[in-house]
Amino acid sequence: MSAETLVQILYLISTALFILSLKWMSDPETARKGVFSGVGAMTLAVVGTLTGVLATGGTHYWWILGAFALGAAVGYPLAQVPLTAVPQRTALSHAFGGLAAGLVGTAKFFLYYGQKNEAALTPFIVVALVAEILLGFLTFTGSILAAGKLQEVKWIPQRPVTYPGQNASNLALFGVALGLGVALVLHPLAPWAPYAFGGIILLSLAFGVLLIIPIGGADMPTVISILNAYAGLSAVAMGFVLNNKLLITAGALDGSSGLILSVIMCKAMNRSFFNVLFGAFGQTTAASGEGEQKAYKADTVESAAMVMEQANLVVIVPGYGLAVAQAQHKVREVYDLLKKKGVTVKFAIHPVAGRMPGHMNVLLAEAEIPYDDLLEMDEINGDMPQADVVLVIGANDVVNPAARSDKNSPIYGMPIIDADKAKAVYAIKRSKAPGFAGIDNELYFLDKTFMLFGDAKAVMGELARKLAGEGGH
Ligand code: NDP
Repeated sequence: MSAETLVQILYLISTALFILSLKWMSDPETARKGVFSGVGAMTLAVVGTLTGVLATGGTHYWWILGAFALGAAVGYPLAQVPLTAVPQRTALSHAFGGLAAGLVGTAKFFLYYGQKNEAALTPFIVVALVAEILLGFLTFTGSILAAGKLQEVKWIPQRPVTYPGQNASNLALFGVALGLGVALVLHPLAPWAPYAFGGIILLSLAFGVLLIIPIGGADMPTVISILNAYAGLSAVAMGFVLNNKLLITAGALDGSSGLILSVIMCKAMNRSFFNVLFGAFGQTTAASGEGEQKAYKADTVESAAMVMEQANLVVIVPGYGLAVAQAQHKVREVYDLLKKKGVTVKFAIHPVAGRMPGHMNVLLAEAEIPYDDLLEMDEINGDMPQADVVLVIGANDVVNPAARSDKNSPIYGMPIIDADKAKAVYAIKRSKAPGFAGIDNELYFLDKTFMLFGDAKAVMGELARKLAGEGGH
């Protein structure tokens, strides 16, 4: 078997593993297998490339090994971040992917240009090169900024930054970049071509920033997955430039899954896809939470326990605060105790609860709460009026009724879990601070709502003790 055949076989297996990985990752039961097959696919891709270099007598395999070591050295600590920081970590991965594609495209262009290699710089390849650097560098700066926003880095504004004519000027800049791209396709070896190429790089870097600054916190998850799609598409373009089929298929998988995820999330947050894509169109009016301070009613964990053990149906709504507090195991204890007392307990999972898609499912699965009791928002909302108690644990935006009624709210139109329709609501949070979107929550001021102020893990621990009859009541 020739070395080339071996490389292609390795690439083929790798492609199959990437596809299986995506399939397996779509179900919690097989997700772990999906992760391993993704790792296997990536390893085979590197091994395949290395084999190709060695077989052709290439001596630059040290670069590949060096990059492998460097990637592992950066990747390992990055993988140790807490679950709550995974979205920003993912954004950083996209940034690296985009930067890699952009740099490879730049290197290839200047290599061919230096060689005056007209045969290599065909219109098709130049189009691919322009797409690669445009999407690559745009993804790089856009993802760094998105990661910074999610990490709440001080010098990056959290609120949308908008100015008059924002979209028009963005589109004009994009038009200039495209114009330079067309000029390059027509005259790739012109004396001004390197300047045009450099101009596209600068415009793409700027475009990444301009695209993200008008987008506020509530749209950030969708933006991250759109950037995922861009990184994938730049990898596809890179695949065409390098004539590497594996890059084309893996990039296409990455690009399309990012796109599908963005569309799903747009639906979950009721944002039109174009609004998010063109940033400033999707910006919302300023948060309306600065009005008069309304009154909360706090209650004791003891009386919450008494109400809950009398209930037929208790619906638990988990949110970001549950993840921060790592309260999932305490939640499991409360779930077990209530079930033992004959109470039906269900979990209402909002598609964007937490800080990444599937965040709540991962947490609750860690505590081995049966999947059958985790219900998606659409499945559970119809049952909300029958719920005797809704227990909101560190969730805020995803149960904010303003999304249904307040046209000026930044989250207006986002589908929510109808916690306000239950007979009684208990809500656990540490303070009166707002949630991710920075707005007050009407749910907390309703007559039937009682606040249990405190850390979610501590409060759930106490609730478990009361339900177990310890500390007496
Ligand atoms: P929110 O951020 O709206 O609210 C979380 C609440 O948890 C806060 O009000 C906070 O109040 C409370 N909290 C924080 N820490 C603790 C703790 N240790 N113990 C108890 N409570 C705590 O979260 P939701 O899950 O309701 O909504 C998700 C939001 O995040 C949405 O706006 C969504 O758009 C956005 N988002 C979602 C992503 C996704 O893909 N899922 C990604 C990025 C953003 P207090 O400080 O008073 O304790």
